[in-house]
Formats: sequence, C-alpha cells, structure tokens
Amino acid sequence: MRLFERIHGEDHEQVVYCHDRRSGLRAIIAIHSTRLGPALGGTRFYPYQAEEDALEDVLRLSRGMTYKAAAAGLDLGGGKAVIIGDPAVLKSEALLRTYGRFVDSLGGRYVTAEDVGTTQADMDLIRRETPHVAGVSQSLGGSGDPSAATAFGVLQGMKAGAAHLWGSPHLAGRHVVVAGVGKVGYGLARHLVEERARVTVADVSSSALDRARVDLDVEVTGVEEAYSTPCDILAPCALGGTLDHGTIPNLKCALVAGAANNQLADPGCAKLLSDMGVVWCPDFIINAGGIINIAEELGGYSRDRAFARIKGIYATTAAVLAAAQAEGTTTAEAADRLAESRIGELERLASLRVRPRRGYPAAG
Ligand code: NAD
Repeated sequence: MRLFERIHGEDHEQVVYCHDRRSGLRAIIAIHSTRLGPALGGTRFYPYQAEEDALEDVLRLSRGMTYKAAAAGLDLGGGKAVIIGDPAVLKSEALLRTYGRFVDSLGGRYVTAEDVGTTQADMDLIRRETPHVAGVSQSLGGSGDPSAATAFGVLQGMKAGAAHLWGSPHLAGRHVVVAGVGKVGYGLARHLVEERARVTVADVSSSALDRARVDLDVEVTGVEEAYSTPCDILAPCALGGTLDHGTIPNLKCALVAGAANNQLADPGCAKLLSDMGVVWCPDFIINAGGIINIAEELGGYSRDRAFARIKGIYATTAAVLAAAQAEGTTTAEAADRLAESRIGELERLASLRVRPRRGYPAAG
C-alpha cells in the first residue's frame, strides 16, 4: 500500500510507528488533527490479524476522535493509537512504559487514554514516562474510568431523541433494548431503570447478563433477537458496525441511541435508517461523555464540572436532529457538518499571532 496516499486520503497530520524488539512493542500512533488542540484518543491493544488492519483501524478511529471532540465543543484535536498483539499475552510493564516514552516523544501533540484492551492501571504505568496521558487513577489526580460519564452522556442524547420524536424527554414507560451491558451499557441500563423505563438487555457474556438481571431487574433477550425486538428505543452498546444492510430492515424501534463507536457499517446506512423513519442519534455526538470527562482532567479534574458539561450533550443532540430535519439531510450528515463548521470557524484563531516570534527584538 502507498502509505502517504492512504494518509492523504483521510487528511491525517502524522502517523508514527513505534517498535521495540525487547518488549515486543509494535504500535501505531495516528494524529488526525491538532487544529483545535492536542490530539486526544485512547490506545487500543488488540490482536490484529494483519498490520494493514491495525493501520485501517487507527486511521479511522483517530479521524472519528477529531469529529467527536469538535462537536463536543472541546479544545482538542483527534488522535488514536493501536498496540498490535494479544494484551493477555504481550502486556507488560516494560512494554507499556516503552510505549509511554514514544508518546512522550511527541511532546504533547498526542495525549493518550484507555480504550479496548487497556485499563486505568495501564495508564498509571504510562504516566510514569509521560504527562501526556489521561484517564489515570484518582490518586494521581485523574478522573478514572470514563464509562460512567459516557453512560450519563448517552442518557442525555437519548432524552433529546425522545423529545424530538415524542415531544417529551421523559423515558418512563418507554421500552429500551440495550445491546451490550458492559461498562457503558450496564451504567446506561441502570439510569434507564431509575427513569422508570422498561429495559431489555442482550449480551454475549453470561456473566454480564447475570449482573444486569440480578442488580437491575431487567428483561433479557438473545443477541440475535436484540435488533428485531419491538421497542421504542434501541441502544447499541457493544461493538461497532452492527447497523448494516441486514439488521436495519428488521429494526422495530423508532429511535436508535447507543454508546458503541462507529455503529453504521457504511455511510449508506444513515440514509437507510432515515428512509425507514428511524431516528438515529449519531454515536460520536451522544457517546462524548467519556472524552468530555477526560478533557476536564487536563485542566485539574472536577467531577461536578465534568458532569455539568456532559449534560450539554442533550442540547447538541437536539440541535443535530433539528438541523437534519430542517435541511432534509441524514442525522449523520448534520453531525459531521456541526463538527466541520466548528473546526473551520476556530482554526483561524491559531493563525492570529499574539506574541512576538521567539528571538524577535522587542519594539522600542
Ligand atoms: P465493554 O467491553 O465493557 O462492554 C461491551 C459489552 O458488549 C461486553 O459485555 C460484551 O460481552 C458485549 N458484547 C460483545 N459482543 C456483543 C454482541 N455481538 N452482542 C451483544 N453484546 C456483545 O465496553 P464498553 O466500555 O462498555 O464500550 C461499549 C461501546 O461503547 C464500545 O463500542 C466502545 O467503543 C464505546 N464507547 C465506550 C466509551 C467508554 O467510556 N467506555 C466511550 C465512548 C464509546
């Protein structure tokens, strides 16, 4: 593959390959954009079948982070990193700290955090090599696991979707299917039960299902049935790509609002959903609670301030849904336009010089 062509196509600023034979580290850091600020995005530790797959993933995910941060109103750009390998086999202190040194070498252009296959404890190790890491333990001044913040944000987006469709944000009595009750899905299901919604959950993991059933008194359905269960709202909270040309025609819900990243298998799925009259709350708009929480950590963390800011996801989602309706576009297009217009409007700020250039003699 022609690497520069591939990077050019997605408009990435920088792609860094990191290698250390001794610890077995093979990582790729992709900085999509620093136009609004340092590129923030988690490190995914995953046993990719091929290096090409790892590159595809990191390019796609880092671009998504630019849009997520911009639409959330943060002064952050978009980046992401992948470490190639099975974390259960390869993860070690040496590997993570070596990786931390590579992150440090970027001087703050890239700030890392948790993602699939990495944990808060891993971030604490990385922190020993670089300050450019977020999502570290509260004892280190961090904000900890962002999942609760993400679940709270998804709830705000879902309420905005409900208000758009039914004229009221209240979810009491609404039937919601939560597909995937891991860290975020479980938190979301708990909020929904508190809101007195009727909740049905699905998960491939029997322990995750048991926890939800025992703690929350929810109904359970099979993973295969989750996307065709008659309900008001479907909340995809497992992996990406589950809304495709196979599942969408079988949906029996009015609203889709969930945490999973990259829910649409391809861009054409947005049109398919709107043609079926299903309102889709764009994933990167409503699952931004985690990144908003982490962004607060960079300026000295306050949970109250972070959660107050996450509440803003309601207004952002409402604006996106209203714009799509007014302009006759899909909600996916409206969300992209919101992010792109903010980047376009603000990038001029960076071109305005406010200090004399280094070494330039002072006036007078
Ligand atoms: P997680 O790994 O804790 O939970 C995922 C759950 O989905 C697990 O319980 C797993 O068993 C289940 N699952 C896997 N395949 C499934 C399938 N086919 N059908 C039903 N369930 C299935 O992950 P998480 O942190 O809760 O994240 C969930 C999604 O939200 C991911 O797509 C993630 O990228 C996205 N997200 C998470 C955060 C966060 O703060 N954790 C932030 C933004 C977006």
